Amino acid sequence: MHVSKVLLASAATVVVALALFLRTFSAAPLPKPSPYVGSLPSTRSPKEMAVFALLTGVNHRVAAYGYRGGSLLERREFSMAATLVKHPQGDLLIDTGFGRNIEGQFHTMPWTFRAWTFYKLWEPAADQLWAAGYDQRSLRAILLTHAHWDHVSGLPDFPGVPVWVTSPERQFIKKGGHGQFGNSFTGIRYEEYGFEAGPYLGFSGSHDIYGDGSIVVVPASGHTPGSVIIFVTLQNGTRYAFVGDLVWQLEGITQREERPWLIRKFADSDAQGTRENLLRMIALKERLPELIIVPAHDMRAFAEMPTLSDVSGTNRQ
Ligand SMILES: [Zn+2]
Ligand SMILES: [Zn+2]
Repeated sequence: MHVSKVLLASAATVVVALALFLRTFSAAPLPKPSPYVGSLPSTRSPKEMAVFALLTGVNHRVAAYGYRGGSLLERREFSMAATLVKHPQGDLLIDTGFGRNIEGQFHTMPWTFRAWTFYKLWEPAADQLWAAGYDQRSLRAILLTHAHWDHVSGLPDFPGVPVWVTSPERQFIKKGGHGQFGNSFTGIRYEEYGFEAGPYLGFSGSHDIYGDGSIVVVPASGHTPGSVIIFVTLQNGTRYAFVGDLVWQLEGITQREERPWLIRKFADSDAQGTRENLLRMIALKERLPELIIVPAHDMRAFAEMPTLSDVSGTNRQ
């Protein structure tokens, strides 16, 4: 009798735990914010500007990993990517995706992380650029959305190229841990920048890289302490928002779904900050439906951009 009671209690505990676990993956849209009502900044983007997607590999996940309401059974390839932004005053690489030494770097991650991470390297960004005849002297800097492993893996493949980060992200890198490689890189030329310019599209400050409004960075802390969003506007009016890991999949914006609670606990430094910035982007997308939002790990977003194989002579300014 006593044994059966214990078994019953254990079974009930398992059922409750399972129900709670599944609940973290169920749909729970955030309340819809009012559309952004501020002014739209003017830009003087040079005609030579262009963006190119550099897909460096994938991470095998399921939709449920990316957003609440996603299926636990639907497989999704999460993109691991860099983006080349060409500009006559100097090109920028937004993140690096996987680099040449991803295998060695990955082994410095905690086993608890490696146990549920299954990635595939396609081709590092540096190799794609050199194969396309890209002139490295055109590359002004690497601009990080944030410093997690899958965004910085390729930094050592670009020796001497400055890496632009915010001050809080630089501190985050110095401290190490949480989503970073066990051994930090040496010899990287980090350069810090601030948000000296005024509010921009609903964000509290901004950093206009070339002073022409074509590439503007805004603070978006939450996923990491110094995460940013990078707005790129081409001369033809095409406007991109590189949101890093604010959301992992577009449904985060279109369905107003955060990452599941369990995943937020692992992935985000400050879940509340992430939520506030997510709501800002949702409000902005309401106002600017044509805005192309590029979560770093959504293949569909990268499909909106040309690749180096679509053009020839990418080394020409
Ligand atoms: Zn991240
Ligand atoms: Zn990431």
